Parts: sequence; C-alpha cells; structure tokens
Amino acid sequence: MNTILKTSIDKLISHKLLNKEEFVALLNNNTQELRNKLASHATFTKQRYFSNQVYIRGLIEFTNYCKNDCYYCGIRCSNQQLSRYRLTKSDILSCCTKGYDLGFRTFVLQGGEDSYYNDDRMSDIVSTIHSMFPDCAITLSLGERSYESYKQLYEAGASRYLLRHETANIEHYNKLHPDNMSYQNRMNCLHHLKDIGYQVGCGFMVGAPFQTTENLAEDLLLIQKFQPDMVGIGPYLSHKDTPFHNQPNGSLEDTLLLLSILRLMRPDLLLPATTALGTIAPDGREQGILAGANVIMPNLSPSNVRQQYSLYDNKACFGNEAAEGLADIQNRLQSIGHEITINRGDAPITNR
Ligand code: SAH
Repeated sequence: MNTILKTSIDKLISHKLLNKEEFVALLNNNTQELRNKLASHATFTKQRYFSNQVYIRGLIEFTNYCKNDCYYCGIRCSNQQLSRYRLTKSDILSCCTKGYDLGFRTFVLQGGEDSYYNDDRMSDIVSTIHSMFPDCAITLSLGERSYESYKQLYEAGASRYLLRHETANIEHYNKLHPDNMSYQNRMNCLHHLKDIGYQVGCGFMVGAPFQTTENLAEDLLLIQKFQPDMVGIGPYLSHKDTPFHNQPNGSLEDTLLLLSILRLMRPDLLLPATTALGTIAPDGREQGILAGANVIMPNLSPSNVRQQYSLYDNKACFGNEAAEGLADIQNRLQSIGHEITINRGDAPITNR
C-alpha cells in the first residue's frame, strides 16, 4: 500500500472526512488488503458505539404498484410482465403482529409510489399500527410526497423515513430516471423530511449503470453534508424487464469497502446490510456486518407476494432474508461475534 493511501486512511480515521480526490483514490485501489484494513477499523469504531449489537427491522413491502419509471427498477410502471399486488390494512396489521411476536420493534413499510395509498389511507394505517404497537417505531419508504403529506404521516406516528438520494450527481441522476423525475425534487423531499423531524435515511446503489468513481465520491460528500441518521447502500442488480437489463451488476467488494468508509465517516450511523447485499452473495449480509453495517431488515411481507416485489432479479426473500428465519439469522450473527438486539434502535441522540 503506498504512502498516499496510508495517509488517506489515517485521515479518514482521525478526521472522519476526505476530499473528493482522496475518496476516489481509495475507491480506485480497492484491494483485499485495503478492505481488511478499513473493515478492522470500522469494526473497532462500531463496537465503541454499538457494542456487538445488530438492530433488526421487519420489512413489509406492501405494494408493487408504482407510477414512476426508473430505468433500473423492476417495479417501474412500464414493466407489463409483473403481476401487481397491494396489501390491505388488515394484511399489513397481520404482518406487524407476526413481526412483533418474532421480536421486531421496528416496522418498515416500503412500496412503489402508489396513489391508492393517499394521505388519509396511509395515515390511517400508520396511526393504527402506532396505537396497536406503541413500543414500536414505524419507518416509511414510500418515495417522493409533498411536505404536507410527510407531515401528516409523521403526526400519525411514523418517525423514520428512507428515501435514497440514488446519486448525488445531477447528470448521473438524469441517466437513471425519466425526465419527469428530478434530483432537485428528491433532495427537497429529503430536506423536508429532516425539517419535520423524521430520522432520515438516504443512500445509493453501488455500481449503478453509468456510475463513475467520482460519482461515488460525490455520494460520500453529500452524505457528509446532509448528515442522515441512516444510509442504505447495496449493489445494483439488473432486472430482466428493464431498459438496463444488460447492464452489469455492482460489486460485492465495492459495497463492502463503502460500508467501511461510511462507518468511519459516521461512527453512529445506522447502516443496514441490505437485501441486495444478501442477494449478490449467500453470506453477503454477514460480510456487510463485518465491514461495518449494524442493521438488518428481514422480509416480513406475506410469503406469496415477496417475489412480486421484484426490484431486481433473484431477490433473496426467504431463508436468511426472511423474518421467520430469525433464529437462523441469530445463529449466523453469533458465529461472527454479533447478536440481535430487540430494542427499537433509534439513531443515537449524540448525532443530532
Ligand atoms: N418507492 C420507494 C422505494 C423504492 S425501492 C422510493 O422511491 O424510495 C427501494 C430502493 O431499491 C431504491 O431506492 C433503489 O435504490 C433500490 N433499487 C431499485 N432497483 C434496484 C436494482 N435494480 N438493484 C438494486 N437496488 C435497486
């Protein structure tokens, strides 16, 4: 490892920030040696803030209808091959009951942008979950909505929101999305969510089509500036029925390196080892935890709809990605020196 890289690593550990060129240099020199070194520092940092605890969130994918047409995503509105589903309020509540019994204290409601779930319907679902499970946190991931909508949902009892920024570079954003979507609107939404008081998560796909190393460095700088409570990253994985079906998948190794960098930039960050990471390699999630991640989000959706929430091909949603596989997940985490914690796992207050 050359001296410039070594200096950058020391700076990342001590200052928790690098400039764009330094990030690019790290990402362009992604060797096993570099990954091991950053992962061991990231693990040390994570231990100080979170001990060996991994937070669990039950993921309920409640609709695969979407009005958007993102070029990378399998549930895009132009995909005619997909059979669409919506969960009813009572389906969603059954998922929560099942999840609660399994030990989940956070429910993540994620879906396409589906106008059926307007503010009144969605607030009704959120407030019912909130009153039935007052000790649980409700996270939403419903895409872009108005300030008023986010506010109404917050008042109904949701306290966290996941909205990946997707890419910090406007030209890159425009290559991934049709003209009616904009980077500016995405960022406005993220700022609105923060202003309202949500714990906010942003994030991006690693190896997204047309992404450059500079783009990834820009993502890291945006995260440093925006200071989210959570960051969701996972490899881009192609979906056969999208315009990007021939684009290569993102890499496991790049995702692992980025997880370690993010942990070192933000010791208190909530950082999931995502489903996409668990899909690209059978032990991808464990590798993510060892690189610095501290959250997992097993699938709590009814098993008959899980394959239909098809963001990318071969999405892992059974076995170790499934909520009912929690005992097995616990064993696997134990084998790498970690354990599941059942508390809500809010973002540490120190950060805000
Ligand atoms: N409609 C919601 C939820 C979208 S799906 C929203 O807009 O936030 C959640 C995330 O899955 C997206 O933000 C995107 O980063 C990721 N995703 C979509 N397609 C993907 C693909 N082909 N490979 C990997 N991740 C993908």
